[in-house]
Amino acid sequence: MTHPALAIAPFPTVFGRNLLAEVPAFAAPPFLVVTMADLWPRFRGAFPEGTPVHLVETMERAALEAALPGLAGIASVVGLGGGQAIDCAKYFAWRRNLPLHQFPTSLSVDAMYGQRAGVRENGIVRYVGWARPETVYFDLDILAAAPAQINRAGIGDVFCFFTGVWDWDYARDRGRTEAKWPYDAALAAESLARAEAALAGWREIRDLTPAGIALIVEGFRWGGASFHAAGWCPRHIEGVEHYLFYALEAMTGRKFLHGQAVCLGIVAGAMMHGRRADELAGAIRRIGVDMRPEAMGIGWDDVARALAALPGFVRDQGLPYGVAHDFAATDAFLADLRRRVEGELPGG
Ligand SMILES: [Zn+2]
Repeated sequence: MTHPALAIAPFPTVFGRNLLAEVPAFAAPPFLVVTMADLWPRFRGAFPEGTPVHLVETMERAALEAALPGLAGIASVVGLGGGQAIDCAKYFAWRRNLPLHQFPTSLSVDAMYGQRAGVRENGIVRYVGWARPETVYFDLDILAAAPAQINRAGIGDVFCFFTGVWDWDYARDRGRTEAKWPYDAALAAESLARAEAALAGWREIRDLTPAGIALIVEGFRWGGASFHAAGWCPRHIEGVEHYLFYALEAMTGRKFLHGQAVCLGIVAGAMMHGRRADELAGAIRRIGVDMRPEAMGIGWDDVARALAALPGFVRDQGLPYGVAHDFAATDAFLADLRRRVEGELPGG
């Protein structure tokens, strides 16, 4: 943690075991557990009988607002789940000004390190609010119980630093960076160092050893903390890979496992930049993230449509300038992407 951006401390983070059992001893009562219907049966035994619980069904902001009156008398909030439960817990903690304790149950997405909650307003994602958890708790037994491919997919929100920084390089070289976010070589270097560390540690990540989990978590932590500390600057942490994911989601109307779709975007983005595509595709595949469209419930035709629409999409959305703005998809590009994703090229 060397960059001055981290003079604002990242969220406190604890790794341990049997951590949920301690919650009644430190969370101000009565505390609200925010989790998902499919997770609650597994975890309810850790809490006293009658513990208030909110099972997330929607992230529509109007619905979250409607739930607020039911939170009267609640003294603290415990987030327990993946991205949605973590974000919903943030939202309630923000709107009721309550202490927040976060327990991510998997590593697919870096939501636990952002202050803002990803909510939807008439289906459009917006990041709103302000919640700093007292601590982010990673219970190693809970993580181990999540499907391995969901945890491994977390590498998407770390390897995206490669394509994010390359987009920033691309914009700088063309004089197209934003005045509010001038190119910062130190920020870019710190992001790349974390992505390189994760790449070098791919075996640990594949095996989800404590060292591998720490590589992912340290990447997430850097991403969230430096986004805020650099003045809400996303340039060094994301770019074309997330934009392709957003375009895919917008065009198909489907929800993807975050890291899985981001990994597909990383390979496509690396190809657009002409940088390290074989290496990244090979690493993602060896780690065990299935980034094939069929694994996400879509087809290659959907990917082709999203790629074709990408330059218009990033302009319509007002996304930061990068390679996506200038990219023209060809049949040859799509065929190469497919072979890389399916492991038929070097590095696979
Ligand atoms: Zn992400």
